[in-house]
Amino acid sequence: MADRNEKQLMELLKRPGNNVCADCGSKNPEWASYNIGIFVCTRCAGVHRSMGAHISKVKHLKLDRWEDSQLERMKEVGNNAARLRYEERVPPCYRKPVEDDPQVLVEQWIRAKYQREEFCHPERQGYVSGYMEGFLMKRGKEDSRYHPRKFVLSEADDTLKYHVKEKKDPKAVLRLSELNVAFAPQKTGNLNSLQLTFIKDGSTRHIYVYHDDPAVIVNWYMAIRCAKLHRLQVAYPAANESELVGHLTRDFIREGWLYKTGPRSSDAYKKRWFTMDNRKLMYHDDPLDAHPKGEIFLGHVLDGYSVRVGVPPGTRDQGFSFTLRTPERSYNLSAASDEDRDEWIQAIDSVLERPLTPQDSSSKYQECKVVCLCEVPQMDCHNRIFPVKCFNVYLKYVCFYIY
Ligand SMILES: [Zn+2]
Repeated sequence: MADRNEKQLMELLKRPGNNVCADCGSKNPEWASYNIGIFVCTRCAGVHRSMGAHISKVKHLKLDRWEDSQLERMKEVGNNAARLRYEERVPPCYRKPVEDDPQVLVEQWIRAKYQREEFCHPERQGYVSGYMEGFLMKRGKEDSRYHPRKFVLSEADDTLKYHVKEKKDPKAVLRLSELNVAFAPQKTGNLNSLQLTFIKDGSTRHIYVYHDDPAVIVNWYMAIRCAKLHRLQVAYPAANESELVGHLTRDFIREGWLYKTGPRSSDAYKKRWFTMDNRKLMYHDDPLDAHPKGEIFLGHVLDGYSVRVGVPPGTRDQGFSFTLRTPERSYNLSAASDEDRDEWIQAIDSVLERPLTPQDSSSKYQECKVVCLCEVPQMDCHNRIFPVKCFNVYLKYVCFYIY
């Protein structure tokens, strides 16, 4: 009997929809929730189990014994039918996780679906309202310790503010339209943490926050996305919603330690934390620094950008080196291994090969505009992002694209 049921389960697994995990879409699910009637992967099965058997009853497809009634339930439902029910009202701004996405995102997606049934009851989706306030633990810029800060999100004002003292003026007012948010579990060591990145006084600024309750941190993440989407929909009423959704938040393409020299060929290699954010390659002394030490714009190959193995003749070589060339400068870099170097080159190359989109150009333009607002004559501008020379080249370059 058991053998026959296992065989039938394997047949069911081949049906369209059942051959990928019902929650994260990864291939070849090996588990199932037999009361909900879905096939899931190992990671998602762990989340289902953690919700308790009153929500989801989990079994392995091959290693566990299947009763006839349980098999019947799987036949009756299956992944496609379950999706229609539990994902009926997923708001477009909600980021549905895929394989390899941060654990907190996967966990809260599954809990939102089956435990809180947020997508059957849209009134439970607090993050779509355009307003959110509450306390988050924020990492101090100077002392590196986390302190509770009150955050207020307002879609109407296009702002995210935070207050040191609740009754006083905000310490900072961030424009939602210029804000990126990403999960930062590896860097902070906290699964429920976010990295907020924005431009302040012409320089990129990162802030790190977390909340002990994973549902709260994911709600903040979705609230920022939803507010951004609504504002974009007002600004671009004719735009396709799915295209706008692609511009809400960005995960970093790649992060990690590299060695980098200064501009002179005799300069020593120094260890730096690199973060590749779309066309912006930033380097920091420490992964959690509030500001990058430097930023490199990654343009298009046809405009003089390239990356290749090795360093130019006459330059010191170290470890697994490679060179990034921009029209302004050549950067000598070194990775930890062959594999690490190949992955960096591949990541950078994929961006250099990609034509600049209007968004790429406008983000460059936006950054320049902020720089200009410092009201220092351009030649004397000691803005920390771009050395004077690069800064001028950069401005010209931007104008070339804008006009
Ligand atoms: Zn999964």
